[in-house]
Amino acid sequence: MYSVPPAKCGYHASRPAVAHCTICGRAVCHSCAQPDNLNRPVCRPCCLYHGMKQRPSGGVTALGVINIVWGGLLKLREWARELSLVYGVARLVTVTISLLVDAFWLLPAMRAAGASEYMVSSMIFGMVVVIISAPIYPIVLLAFLTRPMVKVQFGRQLKNWAPPSAA
Ligand SMILES: [Zn+2]
Ligand SMILES: [Zn+2]
Repeated sequence: MYSVPPAKCGYHASRPAVAHCTICGRAVCHSCAQPDNLNRPVCRPCCLYHGMKQRPSGGVTALGVINIVWGGLLKLREWARELSLVYGVARLVTVTISLLVDAFWLLPAMRAAGASEYMVSSMIFGMVVVIISAPIYPIVLLAFLTRPMVKVQFGRQLKNWAPPSAA
């Protein structure tokens, strides 16, 4: 199967097309085609969109932190409580910032680069999913830490704790 590029770029009617975008299939000129990590041609809106998706989400790091926090929380370690507070707040802040960046920078940038309505709407759908799903864990975590039982348990542990040198 050969894919023969049409004569003109899908974004620049005056420029000759040199390839098809690997993702959306649009014809692209030399300046619109950007190589992806496998050196295949990708158009600018697709590039922006997928660059956004590959943005360091810190997924692996976050899982590590979650494991540490939960492991420490279950053992009622004071550092785990502190770390959980910091993590919960930081997560809410970063989610908010990344949504603001998407809404006020990435979305207009994609529109300006000629993204199709389908790409714009799938990105908005992705943002809605993030708005609904991303704050669940930090909110549950922060709510858990404010439970009277949890506070009492941490308080009890602190009272029983004594520096090793005092023994
Ligand atoms: Zn494309
Ligand atoms: Zn072009």
